[in-house]
This record gives sequence, C-alpha cells and structure tokens, in this order.
Amino acid sequence: MNIHEYQAKALLKSYGCPVSNGRAVLKADEAKTAAGELDGPLWVVKAQIHAGGRGKGKFKEAEAGEKGGVRLAKSVEEAEAMAKQMLGRTLVTHQTGPAGKQVNRIYIEDGSDISRELYLALLVDRATSRVSFVVSTEGGMDIEEVAAHTPEKIVSFSVDPATGLSDFHGRRVAFALGLEGAAVKQCVALVKNLYRAFVEKDMEMLEINPLIVMTDGNLKVLDAKLGFDNNALYRQPDIMALRDETEEDPKELEASKFDLNYIALDGEIGCMVNGAGLAMATMDIIKLYGAEPANFLDVGGGATKEKVTEAFKIITSDPNVKGILVNIFGGIMRCDIIAEGVLAAVKEVGLKVPLVVRLEGTNVELGKEIIANSGLNVIAADNLADGAQKIVKAVKG
Ligand code: GDP
Ligand code: MG
Repeated sequence: MNIHEYQAKALLKSYGCPVSNGRAVLKADEAKTAAGELDGPLWVVKAQIHAGGRGKGKFKEAEAGEKGGVRLAKSVEEAEAMAKQMLGRTLVTHQTGPAGKQVNRIYIEDGSDISRELYLALLVDRATSRVSFVVSTEGGMDIEEVAAHTPEKIVSFSVDPATGLSDFHGRRVAFALGLEGAAVKQCVALVKNLYRAFVEKDMEMLEINPLIVMTDGNLKVLDAKLGFDNNALYRQPDIMALRDETEEDPKELEASKFDLNYIALDGEIGCMVNGAGLAMATMDIIKLYGAEPANFLDVGGGATKEKVTEAFKIITSDPNVKGILVNIFGGIMRCDIIAEGVLAAVKEVGLKVPLVVRLEGTNVELGKEIIANSGLNVIAADNLADGAQKIVKAVKG
C-alpha cells in the first residue's frame, strides 16, 4: 500500500526527520487559510497523487506554458490560485500511464532554497533478504535514467539485521553523497531514523527524491514516497488509516473485498483461474496464441459460487474485455460445483462476450455435462492449449 507525500512527511517527521512545514488541502476553500498559515516568502504547491514525476507531469487540457503538479508561489494569493487550479484535474506523469490521475488533494509547504538535490532510498533487497540503501548524488531526476546511463553514480549496500544499523552506515551514505560539515552529522541521524521508521512500520520501499542540501548547508527531505507491505498491514492500524481508496483501481478494490487476488492489466481477454501458478500459465498461453490478458485473477482454492459470481462481475465491468477464459482445476473443489457457479454467475451478470470454459479434475465429466446442457452460449475446451486457442479465435476471428 502507498500513501501520499504529505502523509509520508508527517510520519517521517514523527521519526525526527527534517521536513518543511506544510498543510494538506482537500477542498478549494481551504487553500487560502492553509497557505496563510505558512511563513513564506516562498510556497510550494504540490498535487498529491500516488505517482512520482509530478513536477515534470502535465495536466490534461493544460493551457500553453502551464506548469505541472509541483509549482512555486511567491504569495499566499498565488499559492491559493495554484491549488484551486490543480484540484479536480487530471495529472499525467511518466508513472501514471496515459490515463493520468485525478488530483483530489493538494499539499502546500514552505519553499526551500536548494543547493544540491540528492537521492536516498531504502528497500527490501530480495537477493540478500536484507534492507538495502540506495543513494546517489544525482537526485531530483529519474533514478531509472541514472541507473541506465551512469550506474557508477549509484551506491548501494545492505544492512546486516543481526548487527543492525550503526553510525558507520550513516557516514557511508554521507560520503557517497559528498556531504560536508553539519550535513554529515545530520545524515548519520537521518539514516538511523529512516531505518527505524522502515523496520517499525513494515515498509517495503522508502524513497526520498530529492533529499536536499539547502543553501544554508542543512539537509531536508523534500519529497517522500513510502510503500508498505500489505501482508503486515493488519498490525499497522495507523498506516491502514492513511489508505486513500480513490487512488486504487476500483476493480482491484472490489476484488480485495471478496478476497480475490485480482490485478488489472490492459489486454482484451479476461481470465478466471484457481491458483496463482495456473493463473500465470493461463496468461502466458493467451500471449502465446497472440492475444493479451485483461487481468490476473486467482479465485483461490476454495472458490464458492458467490466468489465466482463476484469475479465474473469484476471481469465483465472492464470495458476492454472482449472475451473470457475460465480455467479451473477441480481439486479440493469439484468441477460440477464450479460449472454451476459459472452458470449462476453468467445468468446473474449476463454475458455479452464469448466465454470459453476449461475444466479438469474431480467430477470433470459431470461439470462438462452441466455446461453442455445449460443452453447458454458457452464454449467448452478440452485442455489449456485448446481453451486459449478457442478464446483467442473467438475474440480475434
Ligand atoms: P515529483 O516531481 O513528483 O518527484 O515531486 P518533487 O517533490 O520531487 O518535486 C519536483 C522538483 O520540484 C524537485 O526536484 C525540485 O527541483 C522542485 N521543488 C520541490 N520543492 C521545492 C522547494 O521547496 N524549493 C524549490 N526551489 N524547488 C522545489
Ligand atoms: Mg520527487
């Protein structure tokens, strides 16, 4: 789960990290008060969406020369006008995809005088099973670009959980970032605080881009992106409370309520499968026969009729879906029960696109019979390859 920049900064501030003073704005009429509560003489007005690259992003239907989702204002009035101009509009950045994201919240903070922009991130490194630091002097820009063209400018190391974090790690970061004077000491403290926040709050990613050295030589967290491990959210109620459902794919949100493992993709063939491995194989074989899956969906081992119906509703609510492939292996669940569930779902939800059903396992003959006798326009398939070919043919002709 991700949270907004302003929420991330409040959390990091509670861990003693240096951030600017700021106010979140949810409604246009709050903008003036929010800006007025800050000191100036520089205000930063920032669109809050769960995506980076806002500064270089573009609003849909932007006027010529209009700035992106991070703007500098020289007065309260200017800050207020900028906040009002951004609220409710759709911001497109290289991380949102072409559809962009609607801006429902604005963060106004005290502007900083920047001397250098640096990059500092913590993440869980799956190769070493440790928390890793990734730092670079090339902050403020796309770190992927830096990694592709000047990888030597990125320094990375992991922390041994047995010995934990020590000042040495902080000095290593400070050295890699070329810090001097007071900033070195601040960096050692910052690294400690970030690591503590990361571990205590079950984060999987913490990215500060940029971390800045201000003209007065002090460090500040200017942007912050935090991601949390969903499997640990049950023990992080204060983080759960920060969830912004408007930032999530509505189909994925609906699926999570029914305990379905669903991930929206941009292909044309909806898939309903039991078991994550079989779901992956189903997506692969759809691609093999020349089409693209519209989703990943694992209905789980003990799929009930209700779950199958919900899964169908979610798949058919996607306007990109031009055909559906149901691929179920009846193990614990019998094929006849699955067949009845699929038919009940089709009757309830309706069927406007071709549907191919492939069943295998316990009571498979009975399951196929139920589908064949249903009178519904369902295409039966004998095996996975047959099913994939039939649905691709039905969709693409
Ligand atoms: P992002 O584009 O979504 O990553 O948003 P950031 O918060 O990283 O802001 C983008 C850029 O705006 C930064 O890299 C800075 O160059 C600039 N910026 C943000 N805040 C300030 C500020 O307080 N003062 C100045 N001068 N520039 C800022
Ligand atoms: Mg940034």
